[in-house]
Amino acid sequence: MSEQTTLTGGCQCGAVRYRVDGPPHGADICHCRMCQRAVSQPFMAVFQVKRGALTWTAGAPKTYRSSNVAERGFCADCGSPLYFRYVELDHIGPMIASLDDPNAVHPTQQYAVESRLAWTDTLPSLPGKTIEEDPPPGGAEAIASRQFEPKG
Ligand SMILES: [Zn+2]
Ligand SMILES: [Zn+2]
Repeated sequence: MSEQTTLTGGCQCGAVRYRVDGPPHGADICHCRMCQRAVSQPFMAVFQVKRGALTWTAGAPKTYRSSNVAERGFCADCGSPLYFRYVELDHIGPMIASLDDPNAVHPTQQYAVESRLAWTDTLPSLPGKTIEEDPPPGGAEAIASRQFEPKG
């Protein structure tokens, strides 16, 4: 777990930004079918903080009440999933990959492993290429990113 005491993050377009004061008190990935759908990815990776430790510093996420017990937040402008939380608990779970430094928090547990997609176990053995080795059409240098990049 990171010793960093302030973490910042946000969505892809930058309309929604947040700051977390104080260290996370847990981080995990969830393989359940609802989380797979919610992030359109094989699993969701989140860290846990007290709700009062998270401040929305720009915009505010739109929310989807995905069940009677849970709510999910996302950017209404660009669609980035931003958090998961149980409505009855005083915790909120920002997505690890929404952090400006997504390596700052490492998951320590997996949930809903019964729903884990079989191919996720094979990822480390798949052949890999860098973007430089396999650039997008027109070349990597031709891309004009619109992704928000935090300053400093
Ligand atoms: Zn956005
Ligand atoms: Zn889940």
